[in-house]
Amino acid sequence: MMLVEDSVVERRQVGNYLSGWRIEFLPIADGKDAWDLLQAPDAPSLVLLDWALPGLDGIELCRRIRTLGANGAYIYVVMLTANEKKQDLLTAMAAGADDYLVKPVDPEELRARLMVGKRILELQQSMRFAATHDFLTRLLNRAEILASLKRELSRCQRDGQPIAAILADLDHFKLINDSLGHAAGDTVLKEVAHRLQLDLRNYDLVGRYGGEEFLILLPNCGLTTGTRRADEIRSLVAKDAIITTFAAVSATVSMGVSASDNALDLTVEDLLHYADQALYEAKDSGRNCVRTFNASADTSKTFR
Ligand code: GH3
Ligand code: MG
Ligand code: MG
Ligand code: MG
Repeated sequence: MMLVEDSVVERRQVGNYLSGWRIEFLPIADGKDAWDLLQAPDAPSLVLLDWALPGLDGIELCRRIRTLGANGAYIYVVMLTANEKKQDLLTAMAAGADDYLVKPVDPEELRARLMVGKRILELQQSMRFAATHDFLTRLLNRAEILASLKRELSRCQRDGQPIAAILADLDHFKLINDSLGHAAGDTVLKEVAHRLQLDLRNYDLVGRYGGEEFLILLPNCGLTTGTRRADEIRSLVAKDAIITTFAAVSATVSMGVSASDNALDLTVEDLLHYADQALYEAKDSGRNCVRTFNASADTSKTFR
């Protein structure tokens, strides 16, 4: 968490309480410095914020925190003030504060308020996870992987970088369901989802695109590298049998790869369509294999 307090004495005192409860915190003395740090992607999500500060005051900082929007994680703000007037509480809440404490801070009250904040943040995080992830496999859900594709494609195009998309579909999955039952099918789906992620870099993305279809995104990878990596992932999936309650089964995936390489006006729909065509070819070629679709074969697109 972050403690924004300009008074050295009060910063030390509240800091001592926090250290005593083994709560890690970043002590900041100036409103502008706090604002700079809070805009970073991995900013602290709990802020204990003094009202009167040099640089930017607590109320203005609070308003700015609320303009950060829903893109980042929610920042829970507890305002600290020496002023006990009721109007101040209303002002703080209207500016976007979640809670309000009057100085000098009573340690037991502070501790209780921080616990509430932590609980709300945990709830918010689990709701966010549920909204963006698939319940069974815990991968990104369809809406989220598609939103990621849109974002990553435009970022790569802006940076003059390629991006590869891999569509992976389980082979003869209906047979697994039919012979071992739906529950065993679910176990297989979960394990395949896990194996798909084993070889990824931390900026690669994978989501459940449909029932037994997955979409993997490899930013900064062209068609050649993307295809080689798809094949590595494919062989990781196929390598060992998957243990289900009834039997060990081997599962394989077919994959279609497309990449934006140097196409300037390739859309999300194009990339998915090409990957899907390649996936069909992989199924046609006997499954458990990777096929590519070269976007530059589509002459309607602009290449450099
Ligand atoms: P192909 O190699 O051509 O892809 O054959 P397939 O049997 O995998 O393809 P098909 O599309 O005929 O069957 C897909 C099956 O995936 C049918 C559906 O019941 C199953 N499926 C989809 N979602 C789930 C799920 O969440 N759990 C389980 N157990 N099965 C699922
Ligand atoms: Mg102050
Ligand atoms: Mg299938
Ligand atoms: Mg399918």
